[in-house]
Amino acid sequence: MKPAPFEYHRPSSLAETFDLLDRYGDAGRILAGGQSLVPTLNMRLVSPRAVIDINRLPELDAIRETSEGLVIGALVRQGALERSALVRERAPLFAAAIPHVGHAAIRARGTIGGSLALADPAAELPACAVAMDATMRLSRRGGSRTVGAPEFFRGIYTTALEPGEVLTKIAIPRAAPGWRWGFDELARRHGDFALAGLAAGARVEGGAIVEARLVFFGVGTTPLRAHGAEAALIGRRVGAEALGRAIEALDEALDPPGDIHGSPALRRHLARVLLERVVRRLGEDRV
Ligand SMILES: Cc1cc2nc3c(=O)[nH]c(=O)nc-3n(C[C@H](O)[C@H](O)[C@H](O)COP(=O)(O)OP(=O)(O)OC[C@H]3O[C@@H](n4cnc5c(N)ncnc54)[C@H](O)[C@@H]3O)c2cc1C
Repeated sequence: MKPAPFEYHRPSSLAETFDLLDRYGDAGRILAGGQSLVPTLNMRLVSPRAVIDINRLPELDAIRETSEGLVIGALVRQGALERSALVRERAPLFAAAIPHVGHAAIRARGTIGGSLALADPAAELPACAVAMDATMRLSRRGGSRTVGAPEFFRGIYTTALEPGEVLTKIAIPRAAPGWRWGFDELARRHGDFALAGLAAGARVEGGAIVEARLVFFGVGTTPLRAHGAEAALIGRRVGAEALGRAIEALDEALDPPGDIHGSPALRRHLARVLLERVVRRLGEDRV
């Protein structure tokens, strides 16, 4: 199929982008890497009056270390994240997750901002943003606001972005010493959206976990932080007892959806497997 006709605009500045967003309101759609938007246009699942292509905005494609932390422009391609030594060093969870995002051709065009703004519940990068305590900068004519990752993801394909706003950058704060990071997902084939995945971090002191962040994806409407399972790990060394308690707490909190790809029971089972696998690796300090 071909998309319904639309006007195409390619602004060269953020100011021009804000003008276009104000002019078209809900009838305007931002185009970043196009890896999700273009198929939905072609299938006529969306029919905007105008497509606003932000690929030529110069200020949004850099990865920089700043006082806010590691700041990644929304237009940075997923492939560029994958190749960045700075991302490997400062955002190891993103570095571990990116090879699971689709395939190399998709990552060559897909952007970090597009993945976060889309908010697919089975996507890897939103869960990494929550686990690494990232913040999002949302900009519009006349100002910007900063929203924490847990508040940014509101539901299936729904975020805190309001009409007229552009996600311009993502900041990942520097983690305190002692944090370890672990990522894994289970999908039918490599490159498919995950049936279930886990982006996790733990701060370990004297062999025991003193802080933990376990963020599951593919098992709810947003990245899902498993607070009960985290609490079950605190103050314990990683072993059968701690894992047993964490899995019990996870079971109480999870209510995964079922669809043609997997039943709720399958997703629940996969989440348990991931918890055990990733937390064991954190205990052994293996990403
Ligand atoms: C075959 C295939 C497999 C895939 N597999 C995976 C996978 O395993 N995991 C995964 O996470 N993704 C997967 N994707 C999606 C891919 O990661 C996309 O790159 C991503 O979802 C969207 O990024 P994009 O830059 O292409 O955004 P676009 O498609 O251009 O935009 C997506 C949405 O976000 C909005 N948007 C984009 N940028 C901004 C911004 N800066 N501010 C505000 N709104 C914005 C757009 O208006 C649109 O609604 C797959 C895609 C394909 C085609």
